[in-house]
Amino acid sequence: MITLRLNHQQHDFLRTVADRDAHLGDVGDLVRAALADASVHENRATPAPTSGPSDRTGEILQPGTGKAFEVAAGQVLRIEQIEGHQCVDLNVFNRADGRERLHVGRTRGMQGLHPGPGDVLWSNAPWERPIMAITGGTATTDTQFPFCSRLIYSAFFGLRDRTNCQEIQNEAQREYGLDPWDLHESLNLFMHTAPGPDGEPVILRNVARPGDHIEFVALIDVLAVPNVCGDDLSNCSNFGVRPVRVTITPGGPADAERARAAYDRSVVLGLPSPREYPGARPLQRDPGYVAAFPHLPLHPADVAVEVSAEHLDRFARARNTDLYGDDEAAALRDIVLSWAIDRLGAFAGNAWP
Ligand SMILES: [Zn+2]
Repeated sequence: MITLRLNHQQHDFLRTVADRDAHLGDVGDLVRAALADASVHENRATPAPTSGPSDRTGEILQPGTGKAFEVAAGQVLRIEQIEGHQCVDLNVFNRADGRERLHVGRTRGMQGLHPGPGDVLWSNAPWERPIMAITGGTATTDTQFPFCSRLIYSAFFGLRDRTNCQEIQNEAQREYGLDPWDLHESLNLFMHTAPGPDGEPVILRNVARPGDHIEFVALIDVLAVPNVCGDDLSNCSNFGVRPVRVTITPGGPADAERARAAYDRSVVLGLPSPREYPGARPLQRDPGYVAAFPHLPLHPADVAVEVSAEHLDRFARARNTDLYGDDEAAALRDIVLSWAIDRLGAFAGNAWP
């Protein structure tokens, strides 16, 4: 017997795949088929221990949620892994005028595909200026993939009503009067991407470890809105959703120095002269706001599956210990969901209305 650790929306997905496939009676059949097909990895090393999550306090963002944080100029926003492997989406707005916000395309153009320590985040036109500096961190970022949304799960998985960054972000930013159409492309924190075989970017398995973090210094007063990515069906967060920690601290001279260095590096010969744009939209907290994130709670939906000694042997040789160490349940979930997603592709192509 082997136990597959899932939440209810992952279980719904596996049932959908099993229902579409004449060769699979139920999710147990699907698990056995996935194990029989699993590629064997040789000589996988167990990951080295990390320093682990810090003992900071701060705010814990739970799976399926996000939160808008006021970060004053000079303060440090730190986003940190607790369990590891978790992608976080980030939106940023100018508190004095919500029309100005992070422009991920401009940031990509000025700082490259993976902004890191020493880079700045740029705002949209007509402002086009650095609004935050990345001053520290131990993790990857990505600027190439848009947030996950209702569209993605419907178009690619045939699923509706499940956690996604679009709706999580909408609900978090609503606290400051921002509308669903104010959502901008996210800066993807802890997302691991690289060129695929044909040169196009692909999302690889998430390598963020407990305690990995990214630190930003605000260059103007901003509203920063991180959210725990709702995607539990891809490499993006290794088929899971987990809490992350957010802290905001005053920032010391060393933070200011790093922020100044990042600014100077990106603005070598000065910015265009600033102009006034009438109709500023200051962002004020709605005192009546009560968070109501959709598609929660996520219920555990473990499945116990009868498997043969051969299946167990295959699993032992195929499981990715590089990423999951002794966490057999996470390794099994990765194998099974990866297989099911590949399988679903075989049924695509008949959705034209
Ligand atoms: Zn997402």
